[in-house]
Amino acid sequence: MSEALLEINHLKKYFPIKSGLLNRTVGQVKAVDDISITLQPGETFGLVGESGSGKSTVGRTVLRLTEKTAGEVKYKGIDLYSLSAQELRKLRPKMQLIFQDPYSSLNPRVRVGDAIGEALLDHGLVPGGEVRERVEEVLASCGLSSYHIDRFPHEFSGGQRQRIGIARALVLNPDLIIADEPVSALDVSIQAQIINLFRKLQETRGLTYLFISHDLSVVEHLCSRIGVMYLGSMMETASRDELFRNPLHPYTKALLSAVPVPIPKLKRERIVLKGDIPSPANPPSGCKFHTRCPYATDICKEEVPEFRDAGGNHYVACHLV
Ligand code: SF4
Repeated sequence: MSEALLEINHLKKYFPIKSGLLNRTVGQVKAVDDISITLQPGETFGLVGESGSGKSTVGRTVLRLTEKTAGEVKYKGIDLYSLSAQELRKLRPKMQLIFQDPYSSLNPRVRVGDAIGEALLDHGLVPGGEVRERVEEVLASCGLSSYHIDRFPHEFSGGQRQRIGIARALVLNPDLIIADEPVSALDVSIQAQIINLFRKLQETRGLTYLFISHDLSVVEHLCSRIGVMYLGSMMETASRDELFRNPLHPYTKALLSAVPVPIPKLKRERIVLKGDIPSPANPPSGCKFHTRCPYATDICKEEVPEFRDAGGNHYVACHLV
């Protein structure tokens, strides 16, 4: 097997809870609690979970946009957390983040061509005279036209803005893209177009994606492997086909039961979870899912289930399996 492009080993990110006049730390929000993922070059890994499961914090901690509490992140074997600010800056173009709402990261007074080109100039990747040509090229590969270069962000639709967000990441010629809910704010028909664009760009550029979404039906169309997160912990990982054919964790089964299927007779019985996701500042003991799990027994309240291989590279954290 070739060298992994990205290795995330036992990553933890805890945020301190401060209180009182002295602003003392009185607790911790365990947003990411011992997550491990390996991505091979050209692979797409889908990270799925409800809002509050910590999946976005994984993305930000991997890119060192927020610092880890513990664990290791390696890009092509390089420990990202051992790099100085200057060394990390040199690597930044290779690892890009795409947001749910690209509009919020675009200055409304800056023309789209300048917004895309400024990163190129910032990193000194091409001479000033070649920036426009590079921006036109990348806009075309994202399904936009050269005349869009001189327009302002408000002149674009939601789908076009996401294309601009993708173009802004791609212009730096990255290997790794972390896409955080990139289609959640879009209509279903536009979602399909953007997912097809992600797929096409992967084929033409050999990109590796960590694709973060709350929606299993979105990752189904793009990802070769999927990980399901709950309250900062990984509950299950498997290949896309295996996870959809044979989900083992009760939480995954509940998420899958909400995924629409094209053939009615394949429809799964809908499992509605009781209650809301608990606070990561005070997660349940034992299995974190036990307060909402229909199969919970006494052991689930006391013992944390091991994350183990159920066969065929299908990992699950559940006492039942
Ligand atoms: Fe449910 Fe227990 Fe399995 Fe957790 S360990 S998912 S509570 S059966």
